[in-house]
Amino acid sequence: MDDASKLRADVSALATPEGRMVGTAGHDAARDFLLDRISALDLRPYQGDSAELSYEGSGKRFSNLIAVVPGEDRSLAPILIGAHYDSVIRSYCADDNAAAVAIALLAAEKLTDSGLQRDVVIALFDAEEPPYFHSDNMGSKRFYREQRRPVGFHVALIMDLVGHDVELPIPGFEAASGQMSGLLFLTGAESHAALPAIVEGNLPGPELPLVAALNRNVGDMSDHHIFRLSAVPYLFLSCGRWQHYHQVTDTPDRLNYDKMARICEYLVQLCQTLDTTELTVDAQATSRESIENGVVDTTSLEIELVRRAFGSALESFLTAIGMGTLASRRDLDQMAARLQGFFEL
Ligand SMILES: [Zn+2]
Repeated sequence: MDDASKLRADVSALATPEGRMVGTAGHDAARDFLLDRISALDLRPYQGDSAELSYEGSGKRFSNLIAVVPGEDRSLAPILIGAHYDSVIRSYCADDNAAAVAIALLAAEKLTDSGLQRDVVIALFDAEEPPYFHSDNMGSKRFYREQRRPVGFHVALIMDLVGHDVELPIPGFEAASGQMSGLLFLTGAESHAALPAIVEGNLPGPELPLVAALNRNVGDMSDHHIFRLSAVPYLFLSCGRWQHYHQVTDTPDRLNYDKMARICEYLVQLCQTLDTTELTVDAQATSRESIENGVVDTTSLEIELVRRAFGSALESFLTAIGMGTLASRRDLDQMAARLQGFFEL
């Protein structure tokens, strides 16, 4: 089976009409399916003898599913790949977030026996969606606070909404907008001084144009929240919100499995580079100010990526959003604000 077919198979199994809301039979079925996939991939439990790490809150039982691709030196701080598996409504929620879970599982398969020094933790979090979003029962928060091992994390790579083609429904940009469907957005390069160079040195191919933004310009859309607040270096990958976000129309047939396969390749490449890159503590965000705004100026990285991603369409894009230039932090902030007016990034 090729990568796209593997991704399609996992999304089809996970994204059913019953959904995966906490406390429902669909949620339990998804959990059991994922535990089976984790054992089929021969991953090790992260803690104790099961990948299922349960917790309770508000009278409910939740399950984070946390497994490990073992590295050569298991004493090193691991890389974490994270994605939530619960759903917001009793419906497929294929892009949100079965797609990311499928990518995490395929990445685990590719990273097994690939010679990495570090463990890679595959973290399938429970309870990311409302009413748990950013609450004390959010799966990633409970994991970080109560279930993590003392060695902590080298870096956290979090995915959400990574299965769809990007649409830029901007008046005046309709003609070129189709060319940009392959876009992938990234935040968090500002969370460690070494990350901008790693992002720039590992760009995906032209079919997966990458645009980086400051996390503060987007907000903590997903499970990277607790890692950011805890000063863990992180990158958040997303295709942003789209018209099917949190709708019954977020179905498996609307996803782009070839794009997902490219995102998986990119994720694996990031893991390989990050594995051997030292991320020193003195260069990470630790003060309140740097946790909010970053420890490193990513202006030139962000501008360069927008230029590469849009290519010859850049000028018409800037004109369509009412901007003349893209040369400064202020321009980037303005662009982020304009884009959020068209679609929630
Ligand atoms: Zn969601």
